[in-house]
Amino acid sequence: TLERFEWGLENVPVGESGDAARVAELAPVRAEAESCRKCGLCETRNHVVFGEGSVDADIMFVGEAPGKDEDEQGRPFVGRAGRLLTKMIEGGMKRPRSSVYICNIIKCRPPGNRDPRPEETDACINYIKIQLRIIRPKVIVCLGRISGRILTGEDLTMGKLRGRWFEYEGIPMRCIYHPAYLLRQRGASGKKTDADMRTWQDMQEIIKRIDA
Ligand code: URA
Repeated sequence: TLERFEWGLENVPVGESGDAARVAELAPVRAEAESCRKCGLCETRNHVVFGEGSVDADIMFVGEAPGKDEDEQGRPFVGRAGRLLTKMIEGGMKRPRSSVYICNIIKCRPPGNRDPRPEETDACINYIKIQLRIIRPKVIVCLGRISGRILTGEDLTMGKLRGRWFEYEGIPMRCIYHPAYLLRQRGASGKKTDADMRTWQDMQEIIKRIDA
């Protein structure tokens, strides 16, 4: 089973690891984000969720926004969807979660997990742009429609965003279904669906590109 490959969430260092110069370059950006008051979400957040993982990552995952668990812990993808993402990385892509970089388009939780508003993504977009510029992974993976639309600049449905390559400042980029969507599709039975199968195909394309 997938569990066999799990290094688990607990062993992942909080914050950035890897090349010291690049960790140092990100530090002031993280510090600025952590005291950011550029939009209204600063009033309701418990923690800013800047991102975590290796600055030497060949894959950078970009989700939408922190949820309840992430807002409580200050770490990206640590709730139910995060556990599935961790399984996809460790079981599917065969690398420890700590070897990739994981973050979101916006760094603070929208109340009740509503979709981020344009003024919130506009206020936050510079943080992810700088993270992408400093880390420059081999492949960017957008999780779901929100990050896919923003980073591709294309107003497409998820069906049109997934299954093909895009480019972000010369970096190959792919959009895959958000793990929360995969869980919703599975429903109470927990049985894998067509969306899981398509995501598995997408992940294999991503691995091929990295290994090429
Ligand atoms: N969903 C997201 O898009 N990001 C997280 O960090 C957690 C859940």
